[in-house]
Amino acid sequence: MSTHRLIHQASRCDLRYKICVRLILALTFFIVSAPSMAGGPTTSTIIVTVEPRTGGAIQGAVVDYNDHGLVLVKAGVPYALAWKQIKSGTAYTAQRDLLAHKRGGWDNLSAQDHFSLGQFALECDRQDLARSEFGHTTTLAKGQFDESIHRAWQQFHEKSKRLQRERKLNRKGRKPELTDKKKISNNELDINSIGDDLDRAVNLANPAGFVNDVDDEIRKRVRAAYMIYGKKVQEVMGPSVDLIETDHFLIWTDWPTRTRAQLAGWLEDMYTALSKQFGVDVSRDIFLAKCPVFCWRSKVRYQRFAQKFDGYDGKDSIGYTRSIESNGHVHMAFMRRGTDPADIDRLACTIIHEGTHAFLHRLFTTRLLPHWVNEGAAEMTATAVLGQQCPAGGNSLLLAKQYAKYHWPIGPLFESVAPIEAHQYPLAQSIISYLNSLSVLKWRALINELKHGKSFPEALDQAYDGMSTQELDAKWREANSGLDGS
Ligand SMILES: [Zn+2]
Repeated sequence: MSTHRLIHQASRCDLRYKICVRLILALTFFIVSAPSMAGGPTTSTIIVTVEPRTGGAIQGAVVDYNDHGLVLVKAGVPYALAWKQIKSGTAYTAQRDLLAHKRGGWDNLSAQDHFSLGQFALECDRQDLARSEFGHTTTLAKGQFDESIHRAWQQFHEKSKRLQRERKLNRKGRKPELTDKKKISNNELDINSIGDDLDRAVNLANPAGFVNDVDDEIRKRVRAAYMIYGKKVQEVMGPSVDLIETDHFLIWTDWPTRTRAQLAGWLEDMYTALSKQFGVDVSRDIFLAKCPVFCWRSKVRYQRFAQKFDGYDGKDSIGYTRSIESNGHVHMAFMRRGTDPADIDRLACTIIHEGTHAFLHRLFTTRLLPHWVNEGAAEMTATAVLGQQCPAGGNSLLLAKQYAKYHWPIGPLFESVAPIEAHQYPLAQSIISYLNSLSVLKWRALINELKHGKSFPEALDQAYDGMSTQELDAKWREANSGLDGS
């Protein structure tokens, strides 16, 4: 089972915000000359604290930033984050402090600077901060910005109204919850038997564990097993769960009706992109009998499903893939959390990320890929399908540039097969994207070698005409040096 995008208990935003502001005020002009990493930046920078929307807080020295996001180093570990991944109050404060640092003090901020900060605050839905920044703008520019400020507010109000309308429509599309709560049993035995049922059923339907060239009879039997399982899911999770069938997915979901087309679209776009990447006929079903997907409208329902059907607590994720090596089965589960555009974007990225794991699980053999390759490929596909909507691409460019600039080592990654940390995903994505950009045919060959048991250095040598990991390291750095950043 692979899970990612950790989410922690969200803290009370306004309380944390106040604490944060005080901390940052005290720290803003604490100039640091080098983070504790060998070959770190020599130009002066500042320390900021940001709170990712997924929870927690990171305080570190900023090594670079641009319109997309920033890279900070904490205890020798670099983190790349897009502005839209950061909670509004702390994103605004970090932007303001970086700008003040660049100008040599808050007093040196121009009317244009305050106006830009005001606009950023509005994008973050922080009217209080915007009002204050626009106030400074007016004082400094003596009315020159009045029209621009008026337009900024107008656009903000229009956007708020549109979002409110969408939220209302989503609520309308909801079907009622289960009325008989007793139907959901928390019996431990019951929980395990449901999950085991599916594994057993797929084992019976596909005893030889076929991956490719699955015959129609086996597909039919697996499909029947999925349908029985889906019925059980509907029974346990209640009448609001519907089945939507697309070309390659069986989606059981309780999402508002009007959001379901979007869900099917993300999954099929992902399938199309991967088919193209690996030269798989798009009309073919790479899964045993389409891929079962379970999408829940709340954390409670997501966790209930994960616990009852997969014996997984579901506490620290918003989506996961369960793949079984012996019989080739794979299914996915997701939850919808929040209605802000940033929340929906995060969900889309997660679905395509996890969907890529599911597809790769079925490609060539069911052997597990080294985790960094798997995560890098998943982020690359999410970026290819969603573009700017997914922050992964921007994060990966920004982080790779720092690795090249400061000569941070990447060698250990090439030897590793174990799970990697979320902060390493942008690095993995950058290396995988680089390999892909050299030749898509060689990239396919690399995955084929890995799926037949070769180590990464062996597979690289085989697929890329004798390339060593040292050569890859050097070429990748060269490709990422001198890229545009801040
Ligand atoms: Zn992953």
